[in-house]
Amino acid sequence: MSETIAIVGAGLTGSLLACFLARRGLPVTLYERRPDPRTGQAERGRSINLAISERGLDALRRIGLVDEVMADALPMKGRMIHPVEGPLDFQPYSATQDRAINSISRGTLNNALLDAAEKAPGVEVRFEHRLVELDSQAGLMGFETPAGTVHAQADVVLGADGAGSAVRGQLVAEGLVTEDVDFLDYGYKELAIPAVDGEFALDPGSLHIWPRGTSMMIALPNPDRSFTCTLFWPAGSFDALTSAAEIERYFGTHYPDLLPLAPDLVDDYLHNPVGVLGTVHTTPWQAHGRTVLIGDAAHAIVPFYGQGANCAFEDVVELDRCLSEAGGSWALTLRMFEKRRRVNTEAIAEMALANFVEMRDKVASPVFRLNKRIEHA
Ligand code: FAD
Repeated sequence: MSETIAIVGAGLTGSLLACFLARRGLPVTLYERRPDPRTGQAERGRSINLAISERGLDALRRIGLVDEVMADALPMKGRMIHPVEGPLDFQPYSATQDRAINSISRGTLNNALLDAAEKAPGVEVRFEHRLVELDSQAGLMGFETPAGTVHAQADVVLGADGAGSAVRGQLVAEGLVTEDVDFLDYGYKELAIPAVDGEFALDPGSLHIWPRGTSMMIALPNPDRSFTCTLFWPAGSFDALTSAAEIERYFGTHYPDLLPLAPDLVDDYLHNPVGVLGTVHTTPWQAHGRTVLIGDAAHAIVPFYGQGANCAFEDVVELDRCLSEAGGSWALTLRMFEKRRRVNTEAIAEMALANFVEMRDKVASPVFRLNKRIEHA
C-alpha cells in the first residue's frame, strides 16, 4: 500500500487516526483549520474536560499513549446528586466501586495526540488549513490558508472535521450523501468552580449532577483542582438572566450550594458562549471508496452519555482493523467500516438522548435511587 492519505481535522479523531495510519507506514497529511492549539490559549467555555471510559482508553493503549493520558486523569466512581435542599446523594457506577470513568482535559488529550502524530514517521500536520473545496471522486481539495488558497490531492480523504463537517457538506452538495441534523432544543454553557486553598471544593471522585427536572448542571474535576460545570438549559432560557442580581438570585434559589463555590459565576455566565447540541445522522458515510466521514463528522451525538469521543476512538480502531482484514483495499475497508460501526453509533445516539432524561430528572427520584440500590445489592 502506498496511497497518499489526507485527514481533514486534527481534533481528537483526526490526530488519533493519523497515529494509527502512520503505524502502517502510510504517508498522511493532517489538515487543521485552527492554529496549532499547543501554542495558543484554549477557547473560552468550550467543553474543557471529557469523561473517557474504557472504550476510549482501549484506543490509546494500542498506540502506547494510555499512561501519559491517564497520568493527569481523575477517576470518577459514581454520580453525586445535588438536590435543591437536603444532603448530597452518592450513586456508585458499580457495586464494588472498582469501575470509573475518567475526567480528562480535552486540550491535554488533543495535544498529546498531536505530539504523537507529529512524531510518527510519514505524518505531516498543516495548521491554518481550512477545507473549503472538495472533489470527492478525484481526491482534490482546496484549503483557505493565511497565504491564500492552497490545493492538494490525495488517494484517500478522511473527513474527521467534527459535527459541522465541511467534508460532509461537500458530499451532500455533490448529492452523494444525505444528512439529517436533529438539533436539541437545549444549549449548554460552562461555569467554573475554582480550588479552595489549593484543594477541590467538591469530591473529585464523582461526576456531580444538579438535576432540576427539565434542566440540569453537571461538574467534572480538573487536574488543577478546579471543577468545570456545564449548564444544560432549554435553548433561549439563558437570555432570561441579564444582570448580576438576577443571576445571583436565580442560582441562589435553584443551585444554592454552587453560589459560595463559584466566585466568577456572574462573569462566566455573562461571557461564556452558549453551545448548541444535536445528533447527526449521515447516509452513507463514504463515497467512491476513497472519501469517508469518521467520528463526529459522521455521527455526532448529544453529550449526555459522555461517549462521543469514546465512540470516535472506537471508529478509529475499527477502521484500522478493517484495513488489516481487507488486505489494504480502501474501497472494501470503507464499506466494512460503515457496516460494522453504524449499528453501534445509532444505538449510542439513542442512548445518549435517553440519558439526558435520566440525568436531569430520574436520578433525583426516590424510586430510581431505590432501584439502583437493589441492582447493586
Ligand atoms: P472535533 O472535536 O469537533 O474536531 C474536529 C476538528 O476538525 C477540529 O479541530 C476543527 O477545528 C477541525 N475542522 C473543522 N472544520 C474544518 C475544516 N473545514 N478544515 C479543516 N479542519 C476543520 N465525548 C466523550 O467521549 N466524553 C465526554 O465527556 C464528552 N463531553 C462532551 C461535552 C460537550 C459539552 C460536548 C459538546 C461534547 C462532548 N463530547 C464528549 C463529545 C466529543 O467532544 C466529540 O465526540 C469529539 O470531540 C469528536 O471528535 P472529532 O475529532 O470527531 O471532532
